Amino acid sequence: MITDILELGEQTKLRGQVVVLGSGIAGAEVATHLARHGRDVVLVESGRDRFEPSIQALNDVIFLGKRHRELDPDSYYHRYLPPELRGVSRVRQFGGTSNVWTGKWKYLQPIDFEGRPWVANSGWPIDFEDVLEHYRSAAKDYGFGDLEAEAVRPEITALRTTLAADGLKMTSFYWEKSPTRTAIRFGDEMRRSENLRVVLGATATELRLDDSCQRVTAVVCRSLEGRELTVEGDTVIIATGAFEAARLLLASDRQLPHGIGNAHDLVGRFYTDHPKHHTGSLRPGPLTRQYANELQYGPKPRFCICFALDDKTQEEHQLLEHVLYLKPIYEQPADRLWRILRFRPICQDGNGAIASYRIKFVTEQVPQKSSCLKLGTEIDALGQRKLEVNWCFTDHDRRSMAKTLELLTQRFAEVGLGTFDFGNDPPTLENMTDAAHQMGTTRMANHPEEGVVDTNCRVFGTENLYVASSAVFPTGPSYSPTFTILALARRLGQHLLQTTPVSTTTVHAG
Ligand SMILES: Cc1cc2nc3c(=O)[nH]c(=O)nc-3n(C[C@H](O)[C@H](O)[C@H](O)COP(=O)(O)OP(=O)(O)OC[C@H]3O[C@@H](n4cnc5c(N)ncnc54)[C@H](O)[C@@H]3O)c2cc1C
Repeated sequence: MITDILELGEQTKLRGQVVVLGSGIAGAEVATHLARHGRDVVLVESGRDRFEPSIQALNDVIFLGKRHRELDPDSYYHRYLPPELRGVSRVRQFGGTSNVWTGKWKYLQPIDFEGRPWVANSGWPIDFEDVLEHYRSAAKDYGFGDLEAEAVRPEITALRTTLAADGLKMTSFYWEKSPTRTAIRFGDEMRRSENLRVVLGATATELRLDDSCQRVTAVVCRSLEGRELTVEGDTVIIATGAFEAARLLLASDRQLPHGIGNAHDLVGRFYTDHPKHHTGSLRPGPLTRQYANELQYGPKPRFCICFALDDKTQEEHQLLEHVLYLKPIYEQPADRLWRILRFRPICQDGNGAIASYRIKFVTEQVPQKSSCLKLGTEIDALGQRKLEVNWCFTDHDRRSMAKTLELLTQRFAEVGLGTFDFGNDPPTLENMTDAAHQMGTTRMANHPEEGVVDTNCRVFGTENLYVASSAVFPTGPSYSPTFTILALARRLGQHLLQTTPVSTTTVHAG
């Protein structure tokens, strides 16, 4: 069932076997999975069905280092969104950021989980095989088609082989026609479910611990209207996104002065995003003309391709992972005339003649302790301390960017993909924006001295507190993170089925 906190009393208590915080892709997935398997679940969501600016304002942070992109009602790149959401990086609404995202699904690659000696703090404590079954089952349930079969399709194999000869690699991703919006995908199921109760308009402000300080016993939630809700549970899953996960752990400092899971001062640290630049263009070369149909971006849904320097080159030059997307820009009559007058060969895909490709270049950044979130002194409308965000980079990030672009420029020309044109605005960390991919603030590790959650996403030092989010990513290889968020949420759901018995009651108000 779905209720609003306003439909409950001034001060209400609920109880569930599992309490999930946040209804984005991570929270909705794990909550419905557990409920479907007979567990009593209470899901608490700060936002409501409709976007409310006063609730969204609870996301406001103070930037100390590089800023995120700004809201821009005129943004060309976010024309598909209502003006008030253009440029937003995360959304407080039922369904979370899935209300605005673009629906590109991509696996991480096996190498992304490995430690790379030239990238400080790299390496995941789990490997590709640990998430593969969850990628596969998610792709099947969501109807994405088979990314693995796509990767060995003859045309794709031929193009990959050609690129490999020039030190380039490519991978495929799946682009949905209508991006999954969790409020739509799971809304009816949530309304009908007898053992899942969703409470909207309820912001988790504090986690309460038992006397041992190792078990979370309750989540305290508040609303902007002054309502208070306490939800008790045997297991609590924080699925509030990477920023709010760290904020809640740090803010829960009544019993542990540095917050929960923060014995080693690691909560909020190692924050990474994907610096992104998208104003360059590519003049297509012969290989692009040959494979133009494979490079199409529409009609969706479809598999698309993105490019990078190969693993050997990255190792040889100590580079960070990165990715380059090519979006076809179709000819206008003037472009056609220009091409004909210069006797340029036509580049054409199933949608028409292509004038050029817009380049989107995205890079990984080195995970480092000083790129971090901390609680500041300013408070929000619920009296919670706002986050201070110090998003910063290393010299390695700068060196890697410059060399990567130099080699990509050279190799794209050599292999026949084409010629880059960045005009007066070549990518630098200064002119790049965030990609709305917040990661790493409660990183996964084998030991509490190295991270905040263990390989099951359980917060170190606690028995029953978990994180489902890109917050747990130790590194952020430069692709769309959400498929991995989803796969890890499904993995967590499966893990918790083993430790949580089937319920004999249904969730109820206490
Ligand atoms: C414009 C845009 C385009 C994007 N496109 C892509 C793409 O194509 N591919 C891709 O992989 N990724 C993309 N992303 C990133 C993607 O949207 C996120 O990775 C993903 O949605 C994160 O899901 P989540 O469930 O972890 O967090 P969220 O969706 O942010 O959900 C967190 C939820 O928690 C709630 N919440 C927060 N704090 C509290 C609290 N204290 N108490 C209760 N509830 C709380 C929020 O209201 C929200 O509903 C895009 C992002 C943006 C902004």
